[in-house]
Amino acid sequence: MNMPDLIFPEFEPGSVWLAGAGPGDPTLLTLAVHDGLQNADVVVYDALVDENILKLANTSARLEYAGKRGGRPSTDQDDISNKLVELAQKNKRVLRLKGGDPMVFGRGPQECEALIAAGIPFRILPGITAGIGGLAYAGIPVTSRDTNAAVTFITGHTAGGDIPDDVDWESLSKGSPTLVIYMGSKHLDKIRDRLLAAGRPKNELVALISKATTEQQQTVTSTLEHCTNVMIASEIKAPMIIVIGPTVGYHETFNWFHP
Ligand code: SAH
Repeated sequence: MNMPDLIFPEFEPGSVWLAGAGPGDPTLLTLAVHDGLQNADVVVYDALVDENILKLANTSARLEYAGKRGGRPSTDQDDISNKLVELAQKNKRVLRLKGGDPMVFGRGPQECEALIAAGIPFRILPGITAGIGGLAYAGIPVTSRDTNAAVTFITGHTAGGDIPDDVDWESLSKGSPTLVIYMGSKHLDKIRDRLLAAGRPKNELVALISKATTEQQQTVTSTLEHCTNVMIASEIKAPMIIVIGPTVGYHETFNWFHP
């Protein structure tokens, strides 16, 4: 590869890099995260990190699974934070690799706090978040001059498993033309009801994008009124991003990714 003289940060032993692996497609990794994979002693990764990305780690790096989802036993967040601290205290170069961006709905802040409390130096390496990269691969603009001058990223699921109470659906409904919802499939019926009650039109467009940027990517479009039924009937599976708003209309003509 013909590369300019890039200056990569030094991965110091005893430090942690909190890095985003992007939504799936390994070619969406940043050069900085790739460099981290090449130089790490230990990679502590989440379930949403694609195995082909882990293959980019140097062969002597130890790979440690720290996932928290879907069928596999979940690891307590404190355990993960403690593990990062312990590995750094053993003078390892620790790459903490999370799906998407580490600071978007991913407990990156809690891990930072634990590292700071233990006096461990760290860096944050951003990644492409599913709510942006996934939309690109579904041919749905996050913003467009003709449809929306604002966008809101929302979690549909709190740590306790409920629809978040601290989201003001009524204000969002009026103020944000495009809503991009992470972890929303479980409570899509409640989200739909709140938005309809707050005045969003029944025929507003909705897209469900599953396993975005991977070979299994699937996109289903519907309306707000029918989105839950369509989700069930199509058997589309998590992880999925839900997009509500007029930009979904571009999918029909901009849909370029056919895995
Ligand atoms: N930090 C991650 C988000 C973690 S929360 C990021 O920035 O992307 C996990 C949620 O992200 C999933 O429930 C799903 O809503 C979304 N997600 C992550 N990867 C995805 C993918 N490849 N396709 C669709 N949704 C995805």
